[in-house]
Amino acid sequence: MLTGQIHLRLLSEPKNIVITTHHKPDGDALGSSLALYHWLKAKRHAVEVVLSSDFPTFLDWMPGREDVIIYPTAKDRATDLLQHADIIFCLDYSALSRTNILEPIIQHAAGQKWMIDHHLDPEDFASLRYWDPSAAATAQLIYSFICTVIGDKEGLTAEIATCLYAGIMTDTGSFRFRSTTSAVHQIIASLIDAGARNWEIHERVYNSSTESRLKFLGYCLLNCLEVIPAYNTAIFSVSKEDLQQFNVTTGDTEGLVNYALSVKGIRLAALFIDRTELIKLSLRSIGDIPCNEICKKYFNGGGHLNASGGSSNEELSQVVNKFKSILPAYKEILTT
Ligand code: 5GP
Ligand code: MN
Repeated sequence: MLTGQIHLRLLSEPKNIVITTHHKPDGDALGSSLALYHWLKAKRHAVEVVLSSDFPTFLDWMPGREDVIIYPTAKDRATDLLQHADIIFCLDYSALSRTNILEPIIQHAAGQKWMIDHHLDPEDFASLRYWDPSAAATAQLIYSFICTVIGDKEGLTAEIATCLYAGIMTDTGSFRFRSTTSAVHQIIASLIDAGARNWEIHERVYNSSTESRLKFLGYCLLNCLEVIPAYNTAIFSVSKEDLQQFNVTTGDTEGLVNYALSVKGIRLAALFIDRTELIKLSLRSIGDIPCNEICKKYFNGGGHLNASGGSSNEELSQVVNKFKSILPAYKEILTT
């Protein structure tokens, strides 16, 4: 759904544009941001990508990643760019709080905010909104924004196609999730036609673990996994000490929760990580089990039906116990 399209005419003249996305960007967040960056640059806009944090090392190959501005290392410049932007793109988030430290700067910036996103319950901060919660990835929406809304399929360069492919691939679990429709496969086909080297992108994202990351995975499988058969639920709880022992960096825990979901019969999987500031929670489910409802109601978060996240200020063990105490309320849906 596109609202506020009247503002699109702003793009007919070169503008100052800043692209933002959520804290700790994943493949979809960074891929969408860099694809749009390349496209806007080719249209002669002055454009920068400003992130609230670094991004996982398995994304440290994406075309254009060396140009991104990471707020904590360039506060004045990032603030200045945001304050003077004509347009701030808000990609892959629908709540400003997901931009973490950038939230107040974006909130008070004078420029227009244009949201392109696929998360539920969008906040009302954007003058232009291209939003579809049924989209598999924000990268899918960037593709249709460029090709359909703007009508510039010829503008799809190999760089743009590569970033979009990576975004859709990571947000669909390599084209496995329910969101992977035939329309998604058709988009993927045209991204390959436009120059995305699909095999190379899989290789770069999925075969880039360090030895310690792989050993951390082995450690978690052996020591941090708890299966609760009565509720078809499996959880990982990872302590601060575990993270320190394996020198875990941004992105190293990505995908871990899926191992809990891969246990036969498991319908709900949770990952609790004791980060320095708070406990971060990731939930994944099968079928109609509403991860987003659980995260929103109990863990100050949200997301999609089958993939959501949240956080808590309590102790790790308290958060895990709280989660376990919620399971009886979902017993029927978890066990039928
Ligand atoms: P992950 O578990 O990979 O961190 O996040 C999965 C999905 O949950 C994300 O795509 C995002 O939609 C959502 N999500 C993760 N963390 C949060 C959070 O703290 N708040 C909200 N509202 N959504 C989150
Ligand atoms: Mn996404």
